[in-house]
Amino acid sequence: MSSGKINVSVENIFPLIKKFLYSDHEIFLRELISNATDATLKLKHLTSIGEANVAYGDPKIEVKIDKENKKIHIIDQGLGMTSEEVEKYINQIAFSGAEEFLEKYKDSAKDSGVIGHFGLGFYSAFMVASKVELITKSFKDEPAAHWTCDGSPEFTLVPHDKTDRGTEIVLHIAEDSLDFLEESKINGLLSKYNKFMPIPIKFGTRKEKIEQKKGEFVESENKDDVFTEVEVDNIINNPNPAWTKQPSELKDEDYKSFYRELYPMQFEEPLFNIHLNVDYPFNLTGILYFPKLGADLQIQKDKIQLYQNQVYVTDNVEGIVPEFLTMLKGVIDSPDIPLNVSRSYLQADGNVKKIANYITRKVSDKLKSLFNESREEFEKKWNDIKIVLEYGMLSEDKFYEKAGDFMLYPTTDGKFFTLAELKETLAANQTDKDGKLVILYASNKDAQHSYIDIAKERGYEVLLLDSPIVSHLIQKLEADNENVTFARVDADHLDKLITKEETQISKLSDEEKEKLKVVLETIVPKETYTVQLEAMDSKLTPFMITQPEFMRRMKEMSQSGGGGMFGMGNMPEMYNLVVNTNSDLATSILSTENEDTKKALIKQALDLAKLSQGLLKGEDLTSFVKRSFETLR
Ligand code: ADP
Ligand code: MG
Repeated sequence: MSSGKINVSVENIFPLIKKFLYSDHEIFLRELISNATDATLKLKHLTSIGEANVAYGDPKIEVKIDKENKKIHIIDQGLGMTSEEVEKYINQIAFSGAEEFLEKYKDSAKDSGVIGHFGLGFYSAFMVASKVELITKSFKDEPAAHWTCDGSPEFTLVPHDKTDRGTEIVLHIAEDSLDFLEESKINGLLSKYNKFMPIPIKFGTRKEKIEQKKGEFVESENKDDVFTEVEVDNIINNPNPAWTKQPSELKDEDYKSFYRELYPMQFEEPLFNIHLNVDYPFNLTGILYFPKLGADLQIQKDKIQLYQNQVYVTDNVEGIVPEFLTMLKGVIDSPDIPLNVSRSYLQADGNVKKIANYITRKVSDKLKSLFNESREEFEKKWNDIKIVLEYGMLSEDKFYEKAGDFMLYPTTDGKFFTLAELKETLAANQTDKDGKLVILYASNKDAQHSYIDIAKERGYEVLLLDSPIVSHLIQKLEADNENVTFARVDADHLDKLITKEETQISKLSDEEKEKLKVVLETIVPKETYTVQLEAMDSKLTPFMITQPEFMRRMKEMSQSGGGGMFGMGNMPEMYNLVVNTNSDLATSILSTENEDTKKALIKQALDLAKLSQGLLKGEDLTSFVKRSFETLR
């Protein structure tokens, strides 16, 4: 047996790093600005604890394009490096000075905001540069160093006459990456990755009009004369974004203006926000916004953005934010989310799970407090938030448990009930013979108008539940509330809600009823309709088509997915034809002697019932219309 060390040669590794380390070449800028930020934040920390005896001042980071010479410069005023430090931090690939710093100043630097930790970021420069120079002057009293490397493992390190503290990185842009020399390209990258980084970043200058002080100008009619144009640094970032502040420092308007800062193209105001702020057992800050969603979930382009120490990472928060909340907008910032790992690994990560639970809890707490503070306001927002909440109840048990406190069920008349309130209100009037509460609902106010009307005439409350996932939600609610059953207004609830009907005296004798049934069944196709005779109020509709609640719901669920009822979508349509035996029409049908007239009466009545259920289509509809016109002549 023999053992030893696998020999990894730098010559082989270096091109690999260049090529495969990051799939996106553009992140070189984010990495170099992160290093510049780290260098500045480290200096800030060292001056604050008295380990660096220099003035911290008002440092910034500058990005410059030199198009003519095909160079990009990134200049910082951070702590710099001595030539020994360059040897140590730059020449040793995968040795992270950031990690070493955090380890060394473990207690005091925990919140310093230092970003780096893999020790690979610097080399991402070679993804776009054929040659990289690093000129650096440490805050320590030592000469500056000049490191140069052309992408091969060989480098040179010589002294340099730079006297001001900090580091300048010079990228000699490679021929295949010349597009990075475009100002618009760099501008785009800066605003994508660096918009909220903690140290001001200068990219060029811009002209600004400033008002001149009184006395410096002669009073003039021309208003422009009181202004003068000056050239100022063009700072591309906001170093103190709202989410880094305490909730107590922020007013409603601050949250709104941060929303506009985050999504400049979004003109709709958010409904409300949730400020996330926790540092144990994981570190997470952020602001989530509930946007106006409505019923149609438009394809989302403004998504939740994930940051780490104010550096933009991604807007794919799948696996980190619970799925139902990915419809929200805003920012989360956490250094405790592992990056560069697969999403499935991410979901198995303990911290990530805790973060998802924390976010769910904060959202349900916020909803509960909005509900408690002003129910009226909450109800006004309902239509815009319900989809998220309904989806949350279905997909997240932790949310479901809490949602009972604020989940609302609106009626077609614009009243709102919680489930508990609904149970109380309906108890007297809407129970079936087994003592089960029957909750009636409509899914479309127009399509089910006549049914809603009938239900209301009988004194029933009708909910308006019109989200596409409502059948799944109802299924879950029924499973968890033994004594509750839901029925759509056009469903077969009539035989359930008999309590009121029992008091109706039948106009027809049993014999007459039997006769009517036989006549009806000769004309009404029995593959599709089950004829059902009911003695109802004579004013109520004579013919009405209903569909078994169970059947319709299973079909809906298999269509909208996840219902598990495989093949239900292909089942034939089955309906009930409910005939009001107390109606005048029922009496006329019975008393009509002429067989053809009798048939015509039933056919017309059936078509009218189909029409109000939206079932009369095609040829049947055409001949119905024709026939109806003929009777007008
Ligand atoms: P990381 O940032 O993960 O530590 P990098 O490869 O990005 O790894 O950088 C390696 C090290 O080089 C840093 O930790 C830091 O010590 C040093 N370094 C890089 N850029 C600068 C800079 N602009 N100023 C001072 N030190 C720097
Ligand atoms: Mg780095």
